[in-house]
Amino acid sequence: MADAIDSGRDSFGARGGPVDVFYLPEGTHRHPTVSHGDGVYLWDTDGKRYIDACSGPVTTNLGHRNMRVIEAMRAQAEKICFAARQHFENEPNIALSDLATDLAGPGFERAFFVSGGSEATEAAIKLARQYAVARGDAGRWKVLGRDPGYHGASLGAASVTGDPTSEAVFASVMQVMPKVPAPFTYRLPENHDTDSYARHCAAALEATIVAEGAESVLAFIMEPVGGLATGALVAPDHYYSAVREICDRHGVLLIYDEVMSGAGRTGTFLAAEHWPDSRPDIVTLAKGIAAGYTPLGMVLAPSEMVDTVARSGGFLHGHTYVANPLSCAVGLAVLREVVDRDLMSNAAAMGTYLRKRLSEVQETSRILGDVRGLGLLNAIEIVTDRDKKEIPDAALRASTRLTEIGMGNGLLLYSRRTANGKYGEWLMLTPPLIVSEEETDEIVERLAKTLTIYESEIIA
Ligand code: PMP
Repeated sequence: MADAIDSGRDSFGARGGPVDVFYLPEGTHRHPTVSHGDGVYLWDTDGKRYIDACSGPVTTNLGHRNMRVIEAMRAQAEKICFAARQHFENEPNIALSDLATDLAGPGFERAFFVSGGSEATEAAIKLARQYAVARGDAGRWKVLGRDPGYHGASLGAASVTGDPTSEAVFASVMQVMPKVPAPFTYRLPENHDTDSYARHCAAALEATIVAEGAESVLAFIMEPVGGLATGALVAPDHYYSAVREICDRHGVLLIYDEVMSGAGRTGTFLAAEHWPDSRPDIVTLAKGIAAGYTPLGMVLAPSEMVDTVARSGGFLHGHTYVANPLSCAVGLAVLREVVDRDLMSNAAAMGTYLRKRLSEVQETSRILGDVRGLGLLNAIEIVTDRDKKEIPDAALRASTRLTEIGMGNGLLLYSRRTANGKYGEWLMLTPPLIVSEEETDEIVERLAKTLTIYESEIIA
C-alpha cells in the first residue's frame, strides 16, 4: 500500500494515465491525443486532421475556437470567476436567464443554471417534487421515463433512464422508475405502422399512469427528439399532443429533456417549438448552451412553479457551481452567437441538406437502413441487410468498428449499440450548427467511404 501511495499509483494500476483507463482494459487504449481545433475541425498531436460529424457528444454547436466566446470567457475571467450564491447575484447569470427565457417563450419565465445535463435532470425532478409537496400533493413522486431513453449518469437521472445495462448494475442503489415504450418509427412490432405504434406508445403511457395509481405519479420525462438512446427519434405529431393530453388528464407534469435537442440544434431554440400546442411544463438543456466551452446545464420552468417552491421555503437544491459567473458568461456569448448569426436557420437548412445527401448514400449502401432526424439532430441506422432491417450481430462490433474506421478516415462519429442490440445500432450525424454545405459534403463523402470499408470487412 505504501508503495502504491509513494509511486502515485492508484487501484486502476496506472500512474494517473489517460482517461481511457476508466473505460477500456489495459492494452486496448486507442484514442489519439487532441492538440487543437478550429471550426468543424480538430487536430491530434501527430498533426492529423478530423472533421467533426457529431459535435463530440452533440455538444460543440459553435465548433472550435470561436473568438467571440473566447473573448467573453477572458473578459469574465478577468472580472470574477466565482462568487458564492449565498453572497452575490451575478450579472452573467441575470443576462443569460433573460436571454434564455426570452428565447424559450411563454411558460418558461425562470432559468436555473447547473453544470451539465445530469444535474439538470436532477434539478428538474426535485423542482417538480417540491412543487407537488408545496401544493399539498405529496403523494406524487413517481417519474415515468421511456425505454429506451437517457437522462444522465447520476443516480437520480439513471432512475428515469431506460437502459437495462445500467439498471442491472445500479438498481440496488437507486429507485428504478417505471418505463413506457419509446415510439420507434423504423423497426416496428408486427401489425403496426408508424402512426399506430405511436398511438400504442401513448396509450401505454396512460395505462402505466393508471396502473401505478395516477395520484402517485409526479411527472413524465422524455426527449422530444431522441438523442443517442433512440438515434434521433422523431415521433409523429399526434404523439406529442396525446402525451400532453394524458399528462393533463392525470395531473402529471411533463418534462422535456432537451439536453441534446435544445439550444437551436433542431432549427428552433427548443425542439418543443415544433409542437407548439403541446408544450412541456419543465425543460432541461445542457451541451449546446455552452457548446463545450465550459460545463453548463439549465432548467427552464414557469414562474408560478418556481415562486410556489420559493414561498414554501426555497428550492432544496444547490450545487457549488449553480449560476457560475464564468459558465453563464460563456453561455451568454454562445446564445448571442447562435442568435446573431442565425445559426438556427442554418441548422434547419443544413439538416435538410444532410438528410438528402445521406438518403443518396443509402441508395447504394446495403448497411444504411434508415435516415432520420430534425434540423442537425440526425442519425443513420446500421443494418446488415437493408431490406430485412437486420440488426448487426454483436460480434460484428458495428458501431465500434465504424467509429474506428471513421477516425482512420479523419471523420469523428458518435455511435450507439442499444443494450443487447435490442433496438438497433446507429450513428449520430450532428455536426456543429455552423457547418457549411461544403463541409457537409465532406462529412458525407468520408462517411460513405467509412461505410464501404466496413461493409467489405463484414462481407469478407
Ligand atoms: N439527457 C440527454 C438527452 C443527454 O443526451 C445527456 C448526455 N448525453 C444527458 C441528459 C446528460 O448530460 P451530461 O452528460 O451533461 O450530464
